[in-house]
Amino acid sequence: MSATVDERISDELEALEAILMNDVVVKKVNDVPEIIETVVHPSTGDDVDQQFVCVTLEVRLTPGYPDISPEVTLRNPRGLDDEVLKSIYTQIKRKLLDCLGQPVVFELIELIRENLTESNLPSGQCVICLYNFVEGDVFIKTQCYHYFHSYCLASHLIAGQKYYQEEVDKLPSWQQMQAPQYQTCPVCRCRVTCDVEVLKAAPPPVDSITAPPFCLTAELKALQVKMSALLARQVARGGVVGMGDNGPPPLTITSPSDNDGGSTSQEADKAEALASARPHTSSENAPGSPQARPVYRGPYRGFNRRGKPGRRGRGGPAAGSR
Ligand SMILES: [Zn+2]
Ligand SMILES: [Zn+2]
Repeated sequence: MSATVDERISDELEALEAILMNDVVVKKVNDVPEIIETVVHPSTGDDVDQQFVCVTLEVRLTPGYPDISPEVTLRNPRGLDDEVLKSIYTQIKRKLLDCLGQPVVFELIELIRENLTESNLPSGQCVICLYNFVEGDVFIKTQCYHYFHSYCLASHLIAGQKYYQEEVDKLPSWQQMQAPQYQTCPVCRCRVTCDVEVLKAAPPPVDSITAPPFCLTAELKALQVKMSALLARQVARGGVVGMGDNGPPPLTITSPSDNDGGSTSQEADKAEALASARPHTSSENAPGSPQARPVYRGPYRGFNRRGKPGRRGRGGPAAGSR
């Protein structure tokens, strides 16, 4: 019942809804407000294109709020690195103590907004080239608030399109007609719309040009030794797919039998080794086991995470079984 809601809280909610309108979500349990959620952007006037960072603020109203501090969480940060988030959290803690006894949500939004405005440039690396964003870089913000050097995203999209088309070309023509054509974000797979021709014209990342030539330091050599020991362990435990294969990468081949090279038997051996390595979970003669399934001739018959062939990717029943 609304009678149980502290007047200070209901006044605060009213004010928040009046100011933020649809941008604030209030989750209620039995009519009592429990969580206030809003996405905070930097202040850039109305210029949404200039907002390069954002974060979702979640305020859980603990019983006794505002005389007791609410629980504050920052979710889905975009373009913000851990240092910036840590600093915002510290400031939030201070603000909560200062404002004890009075509504604090609007103050929190303002505090976060100020911080975002100050760091309204993507921090961290471009996940494609692993170079940082520096002065002079040409970068792009996708609709999902992920950042890439324009140059890198162009290369990624062009390569992705090429591999995708190779798979589509293997389909019967009626299926080719239905194959969707769209670009996805390399980080979160959200659909993005980019003009590859425009992106392609951008210069490569500044750091990639100015980077000193590669040199195999003692530190790197030590890392190599460590990593090869790790790889050997993974291979021994069956956790590596495609080692020694001559064909295309295992995640893009359609099925072991489609791979005409010598790796067919290799893959089968690997699957068998994997199955026998897990005697309690394997079901060699069960209908669901890889060997018992009909051979799938469509695209994207991938391998599951353990490198075991047989778990079909997206795309309905096997085309070859009709
Ligand atoms: Zn890059
Ligand atoms: Zn994304």
